Amino acid sequence: MRRRLVVVGGDAAGLSGAAEARRTDPDLEIVVLERGPDVSYSACGLPYWIGGEVARESDLVSHDPAYFAERRDIEVRTGVEATGIDAAAGRVWTQDGEAVGYDALLVATGARPVRPPVPGVDLHGVLILRDMVSARALNARLQRGPARRALVVGTGALGLEGAEALLRRGLEVEAIEVAPRALPALAEPVAAPVVAALDAAGMEVRTGAKLQGIEPDGDGLVVTIDGGTRALDLVLLGTGVAPNAEVAAAAGCALGAGGAIAVDRRGRTSVEGIWAAGDSATAWHLVLERDVWMPLATTATRQGRVAGRDLAGGEGWFPGVLGSWMSTFGGVGFGAVGLDPAVAGQAGFVPREVVREGRDRSGYMPGTRPIVVRLVWDDPTGRLLGGQVAGGGEVAARLHSVSLAVGAGLEVRRLAEADLGYVPPLAPLRDPLQLAAGAAVGDAP
Ligand SMILES: Cc1cc2nc3c(=O)[nH]c(=O)nc-3n(C[C@H](O)[C@H](O)[C@H](O)COP(=O)(O)OP(=O)(O)OC[C@H]3O[C@@H](n4cnc5c(N)ncnc54)[C@H](O)[C@@H]3O)c2cc1C
Repeated sequence: MRRRLVVVGGDAAGLSGAAEARRTDPDLEIVVLERGPDVSYSACGLPYWIGGEVARESDLVSHDPAYFAERRDIEVRTGVEATGIDAAAGRVWTQDGEAVGYDALLVATGARPVRPPVPGVDLHGVLILRDMVSARALNARLQRGPARRALVVGTGALGLEGAEALLRRGLEVEAIEVAPRALPALAEPVAAPVVAALDAAGMEVRTGAKLQGIEPDGDGLVVTIDGGTRALDLVLLGTGVAPNAEVAAAAGCALGAGGAIAVDRRGRTSVEGIWAAGDSATAWHLVLERDVWMPLATTATRQGRVAGRDLAGGEGWFPGVLGSWMSTFGGVGFGAVGLDPAVAGQAGFVPREVVREGRDRSGYMPGTRPIVVRLVWDDPTGRLLGGQVAGGGEVAARLHSVSLAVGAGLEVRRLAEADLGYVPPLAPLRDPLQLAAGAAVGDAP
């Protein structure tokens, strides 16, 4: 009899794991259970479909169940929810009471949006952007019209991506943020170009503000913020996510950071025969040298592949994460890698930081734009611990460079000394990264 892998969850982590397991063991029987109607799609692309930059929702789908059956010999079953796991017997229970036996189980159940504990937060016009189903609901609301005014709750990357999509659909958009300023994950001078882009887009952002309640009002909503009310057509929540760890926890899998399923570097949980990966699982942090919970697509696909290889008998080992993320609003890119000074200090480092502004290309070239770089390093050792970048032009490549340097454990001095290329239309003679690193080692121009 063929050994059988059951995967719960049919998106980034689950299908990366299934595909890697197939590559590792051509004889394995592989069954993927997905409770929703969709599999193998880019949740990260949803804001761009809502905003109209991606023309069709099908453009976000990599492969359908027929592809997996015909090309990979993987059975993908949609509309099947795993409701329980009997680890001793090696069985998954579905919502219909069916028992699906397994020899190896990969739990890749992702995360769900967190709705703030506010009256009315479940009302019809309060929407989220998490998966294809929720994106279709938002799109249907916008198509139905007339929707003119929207409130976005939360100004993290997801909130701002949602806000930009609504602006592109012609809505007036305002946002509220409970923190004292927008994009609190970034240092104030790094967030500044993004805040300027929010202003330029005509978006009012109320900071230090609290959503207190939402009530229906005909086809719209009345929202109470800090005692005042506003009439709006829809509310989009960008208030964070929580791991879907309950089914694995009920089967005895230990939970770790953020309430996610604790896994080792091979993706193994504390229960024999059960692996986990992606937003539902913890991940090893390269600098902190402990498990963290960082729900990102990059982590999900990398962890899925490692677990898939390991459970199929191959060599799987997860190198770790730095929590590298990036986003964009109004043509301004922004993101972060590694530790900020607060987290670095809590972890026992002696953090120092520098912020410098440079140009994305040679200043005399037409259309150059500012780039702000923040670097964080450990004072006694000089080790680079993290960085943040925001501005116009090439932000992703600069964040990638910081990620390589932090991941390799380089001293900040090495970034200052790096032999980076230069040509006026692409990069300046002294890159903003080197301006910041130079300032860190006392070599300011
Ligand atoms: C709008 C948006 C934009 C994003 N942009 C980025 C980005 O730019 N960069 C980035 O790195 N990350 C981004 N992310 C995060 C990224 O999408 C997730 O980290 C990634 O999808 C996680 O993959 P996953 O497979 O672990 O979980 P998911 O993609 O959530 O998939 C889990 C699947 O499991 C299914 N499932 C759950 N429970 C069960 C059950 N009991 N039985 C059966 N099936 C079940 C769910 O229906 C779901 O399909 C974004 C997320 C969103 C929502």
